Amino acid sequence: MGLIVQKFGGSSVANAERVMNVARIVTDTYKQGNDVVVVVSAQGDTTDDLIEKANEINPTAHKREMDQLLAAGEQISISLLAMAIEKIGCPVISLLGWQAGFNTNSIHTAARIKNIKPNRLQAEIAKHNIVVVAGFQGINRYDDLTTLGRGGSDTSAVAIAAALKADKCQIFTDVEGVYTADPRKVDNAKKLKDITYDEMLELATLGAQVLNNRSVEMAKKYGVELEVLSSLNPIPGTIVKETAKMEKMLIRGVTKDKDVALVSILKVQDTPGIAFKIFSKLSAKNINVDIILQSFGRDGTKDIVFSVSKDNGPIAKELLEDMLDDCTIVCNTDVAKVSIVGAGMESHPGTASKMFEALYETNINIQMISTSEIKISVIIDAEDADRAVSAVHKAFIPND
Ligand code: ASP
Ligand code: MG
Repeated sequence: MGLIVQKFGGSSVANAERVMNVARIVTDTYKQGNDVVVVVSAQGDTTDDLIEKANEINPTAHKREMDQLLAAGEQISISLLAMAIEKIGCPVISLLGWQAGFNTNSIHTAARIKNIKPNRLQAEIAKHNIVVVAGFQGINRYDDLTTLGRGGSDTSAVAIAAALKADKCQIFTDVEGVYTADPRKVDNAKKLKDITYDEMLELATLGAQVLNNRSVEMAKKYGVELEVLSSLNPIPGTIVKETAKMEKMLIRGVTKDKDVALVSILKVQDTPGIAFKIFSKLSAKNINVDIILQSFGRDGTKDIVFSVSKDNGPIAKELLEDMLDDCTIVCNTDVAKVSIVGAGMESHPGTASKMFEALYETNINIQMISTSEIKISVIIDAEDADRAVSAVHKAFIPND
């Protein structure tokens, strides 16, 4: 018995039947003697549909109005879920983000939580209510609604768990946990029993869809242990925590990210300050650069290649063409990033070569490589990405 935060994603509350299913999970937990706070996302594709509706009318609308609109999605799901819980016969109240005390900064559509004033939440829990809270939203200091960025409900759940010092934070989704690769695409992908915050953060950032990376960052910061599990199949999921057993695995997962573009600057002058000039220009336009590669200088020139998100590729190319009129700039958006993640590689030399061998044997050419302590990423042709994930997964994850 204790205080449990349960979060349900959009697919888990997509229709009436699923809302009732969630209500049963929540009320079962409550009937076991726990206090329960539930965080929900908007039903199914509601958020996408709302964005589409806005785009039909005004694609460059003020972001404040976007937040007014998007916050409506979660308002629908909290009230419906509260009605379902009421029908089962348990005391319940739904709260919007602001009613639950979510204070954020004023960056509309990408707001950061500043703090949670937990008074109302605590008062409702003290009255033995199940509290259903709208994820993804808060309020700024001007009393305007804000949203936390796509997938933000995970962060809402972790923030509540941290603020209330909950005993557990369960993230229910439509898969059964965190897998070594996308189980729909890779045979023999395995569900992990547990995974560290750092590994999960890398996986989430590198393309695994199961948890939002900011939620993992926050869970690590406040030591909130997470469990990722299925709302449709009641079996234990994956625990995300500070330390985890390696289960004889050198790596935890293989991911693919297709949201990549490569920009190559050919024959740029080989003089001091050129990299500074290029990358300060990009950062001034808020373009986030991921991997950077620079060739040796020869005959007074060198090449610089870097990766950015797909939509930023053409923008970066245009910006740099204006600035460096004497060199050729090429942007390739048909690329993908395939990565392996695992704390085990820190103490295992040969991890990189094993990955490269798997790619070589599948006849896949590597265009760029980047490494950190617990991850190795390669940039390859987009059309090779799925084959690459399968080959690399096979090389590292033992067969049953
Ligand atoms: N409904 C929001 C979205 O789809 C928030 C979430 O699902 O976490 O981005
Ligand atoms: Mg959603």
